[in-house]
Order: sequence, then structure tokens, then C-alpha cells
Amino acid sequence: MAKVVKFGGSSLADANQFRKVADIIRSDSERRYVVPSAPGKRFKDDIKVTDMLYACYDAITEEGKNAYNQFAPIAERFNGIISDLGLTLSLDKEYETIIENFRKKAGRDYAASRGEYLNGIILANYLGYDFIDAAKVIFFTADGKFDDTLTDTCLASVLHGVHQAVIPGFYGANPDGTVRTFSRGGSDVTGSIVAKAINADIYENWTDVSGFLVTDPRIVENPKVITTITYKELRELSYMGATVLHEAAIFPVRSAKIPINIRNTNDPSAKGTMIVPEADSAPEHIITGIAGKKHFSVISIEKDEMNSEIGFLRRILTVMEKNNICFEHIPTGIDTMSIVVDCADIDKHPDIVEKICEITNPNHIEIMNDLALIAVVGRGMKAKKGTATRIFAALSHADININMIDQGSSELNIIIGIHEADFEKAIKVIYDMFILSETE
Ligand code: ASP
Repeated sequence: MAKVVKFGGSSLADANQFRKVADIIRSDSERRYVVPSAPGKRFKDDIKVTDMLYACYDAITEEGKNAYNQFAPIAERFNGIISDLGLTLSLDKEYETIIENFRKKAGRDYAASRGEYLNGIILANYLGYDFIDAAKVIFFTADGKFDDTLTDTCLASVLHGVHQAVIPGFYGANPDGTVRTFSRGGSDVTGSIVAKAINADIYENWTDVSGFLVTDPRIVENPKVITTITYKELRELSYMGATVLHEAAIFPVRSAKIPINIRNTNDPSAKGTMIVPEADSAPEHIITGIAGKKHFSVISIEKDEMNSEIGFLRRILTVMEKNNICFEHIPTGIDTMSIVVDCADIDKHPDIVEKICEITNPNHIEIMNDLALIAVVGRGMKAKKGTATRIFAALSHADININMIDQGSSELNIIIGIHEADFEKAIKVIYDMFILSETE
């Protein structure tokens, strides 16, 4: 049995957090493979080590500032952890190499990755686990995509012979051996990759919250924790802006059907959220989560007999493709259709409406900005009648006008477009309707 455990930056921000992490790992002998982030914020206005590294690298390479001086606060951060933990470890040689490589312009990815690298060395030393450099086991292809085949084979064979190891998160190597990072928050992805490679029983992702919340706590006070969520539901929610786990972290474990457990380093007795391939019990509530995003625009097109005009949609999509605009949704009627796109794309291509007109010759076309989308997600909707009615009733009682509705045939979510100004209010009333009223 083996568990892969990933600890985020706030879980490893200082020596005290390291002690909590070590207690968690030592309390379960199956927690054999550990993926750390770089030290995160210790207090609200603190700076994450990753951000310090980016800034340090830029100051040295772009502004020509003194490398030793720039790197000193970073070394101090790591040395503080080492001495507070009472370790005899010295990272001085590592610092020399890093400074040297910064001067040689080894790249911003290399710079950022050193946070996980150094933290991994400290954690391995503290735990008595082997240290495995992620650049030796996690690979990218020449075009910068994650190379799952090569990584799987290599990681599985390396870890096969290692009973307990620390593998730093966030980075791997390009085919030429140089370091490449995942996007920000990418240690979550590393944890998932390691879990898949060793076919772990579970991937525990330890952070500073006790799981996924039904909705954004900045909008709803003290929302409930989701106890179980499926990969599909999570994908819908994280796509719509719910963070906690990196979006791409779902894919490696999902294909191997390995569950993820989101846990809280500061409250290890809380069970957190289980993310599973298929839920084996009925959901606690009809809806599992509510997420949303602002800043969308809708282009609405009306044309007589659009319905029977072959290739109409294709022509519009070709215009979008040529202008490199990604669409979010395309709700259609008989002679009408709407395309929902990111406002930023319209700002970049203010002539897009004109271009669509040229190619489709519509009766009417208009663009509405400041749209917000809210996704109400839940596997429980499928078996239950009246969910949409309840959502619309909640919104109508709150005097919120609905501009768009989109429900996929999987009945996993209902997406509603409303004016941005109603965003927070809409999320609150949907939460009250489905979660609060069912809890009381
Ligand atoms: N340290 C990196 C970041 O701040 C990666 C991570 O923490 O997952 O984005």
C-alpha cells in the first residue's frame, strides 16, 4: 500500500509547519512518497519563495543587480527553516550553484523551480527519506507538453526501488535537460503524476483548508465543505473558477481511477474532501457546488431560417478560430444563436462583430458585455425533478434577470448568465435555496 502526499506552500512555510507535516507523514507508514511545494506565505503580507525567486532572477539578469545580495533573503528563508528544525544540513553549495546558474541566465523556470528543489532537500533530510530530483523523473516534450509516457515509465522504475522518497513539485525537464515548470500551483500536478506512476491507493493533497467548499467563502459566509465530489463535477467547478487544486491535477489520477483527498495540515483530524471517479453513495445535497466567473461578453445573432442554413455555425466558428478567440458556450434557438466569449478577447478584437456580419449577413447582431456565468453543479440533479425551477425561482425572488441558460445533456450542471452586478447576490440565493434550506 502506498499513499502519495503533497503539501502546499502554506503547509511548509516555516519550521513549525514542517513539524506538523512530519507528524502527519509519520502517523501513517503508507505515506511513502511526498511532494512538497516551495515555502509559501507565513502571514498575510509575506512573500512566497517562488515569487522571491522570480523577482531575484529578473533583478540579476535584467537589471544587472548583484547576485549574492539578491539571493541572500531567499537563502535566509531556507536557512531559518533548517536551523529552527535543528538540522545539521548546509545548503551553501546549492546556493552557489543556483547563483552561478542565475548569472548564466538558466531561465525563469529554472529560477522558480529552486523553491521546490531546496525545500525538497530539507524535507527529505528532516524525514530521513530519499530525495529524488524531479528533473530526473518528470519530462516535457520538445513543444513544452507534459510527456506522460516517458515520465510514467521512468518514475515507476525509479520509485520501484525506493521505499520512501521526497520528489519536489512544480517542475521537470525538457528533452535537452533544462528545467521547465508547470503553470503556477503546479505541485498539485506533480503529486498526481507521482500517484499515477506508482498506482497509489490514494493521492492526499494537504493544504490550508479542510476541503472544497460548496462555494466561494468571500461571497457566502462559512459555506459547507463538500465531503465527496466526482472528478467530473470538480472539473466543471474548477473550470468555472473554483480553486484549491490545480486544474490539470485531475487528469493523471483520473485516468488511473485514483481518488484524491484534500486535507488540512492545520486540522489533520478533519476528513476533508474526497474526489472520486464515481460516487458510491447518494450526494448529501442535490447540488454539489456553485462556482462562477465574471467578464464575459455575448454576441447574439439573429437570422431568418438560420436553422436550415447549412454551415452557418461553422462559418462563425472559422472567424473565431482565425482570430484566435476561444468560445465558452454557444446556446442556440431556431433562428438565433449566441456566442459567449471572454471580454478580454473582444477588447483584443473590437472588429469581430463586423467580421461575423460580413460572413453571415444576419438580420440582427448585438453584443452585450459585463455578463457573469454561474455554474450550478451536481450529480444529484439527474435523478431529481425541479432543480432548474428552484434555481430560477431563487433568482426571480431576488429580482435577478437571467440572460442565458445552458444545460448540458449530461445534467451535471446548469449554467446561468446574469449581469455582473448580480453575481454575488445570485450565488448567495442559490446557496440558500439548495444548501442552507436543506441543512436547517
Ligand atoms: N511554488 C509554485 C507556486 O507558487 C508551485 C506550487 O506551489 O504548487 O506556484
